[in-house]
Amino acid sequence: MIKKSILLDVDEVICFSGFLNAVNDFMNTNYKIDDFTDYYIDEVAIPKEKFAEFNKFISQRNQYENADILPNSLETIKELNELYNIYICSSCINPFDKENSGKLFADKYQFLISTLPFIKPENFIFTNAKNLLIADVQIDDRLPNLQNSIEKRILFPSYHNKNITEDELNKQGIIKAGDDWKNGWNIIKKILIESNYYKEENNKVYLKRK
Ligand SMILES: [Mg+2]
Repeated sequence: MIKKSILLDVDEVICFSGFLNAVNDFMNTNYKIDDFTDYYIDEVAIPKEKFAEFNKFISQRNQYENADILPNSLETIKELNELYNIYICSSCINPFDKENSGKLFADKYQFLISTLPFIKPENFIFTNAKNLLIADVQIDDRLPNLQNSIEKRILFPSYHNKNITEDELNKQGIIKAGDDWKNGWNIIKKILIESNYYKEENNKVYLKRK
């Protein structure tokens, strides 16, 4: 049987990078992730006049050195990896400092190969154009990244997507893995392992041709 494929996001799904720690160090604050509701934390927490200085500060740090792994993520990904083909699908660009984003690619790559050694680097896709990709399952914490024709799209609960209504998700055919990021991976385990979804016949035309 051909294994189903998963496109798996990294930030706010597998881990929280050290971005918020950098904001706190720079501003001498003590923000927690759930203090925010906007995705771009720096736009809210960094005053405009300090933005350029902050971008320089963050571009020199390894944001993945002390990343916080989300509860049960690694254990569940390891189990999923036995049943599915997992493709890591993640952006590495700081939209406010594209020129200096190269270090982010390198640091994220090193983080992934050391944290998820059972996923081969050939399965890493670093892109913002997630809508161009096809898979059976996609897991992401950002609704705009789930705008494609993938059968099972799962919105991972996060600080910035608390206000998306069930109605809106139903309309788009998107499932949300609960309301609390601390429990998101337990729910994904139910959706993708305990439901036996991985055993269901694959109807994809491109797979039938093989
Ligand atoms: Mg993300």
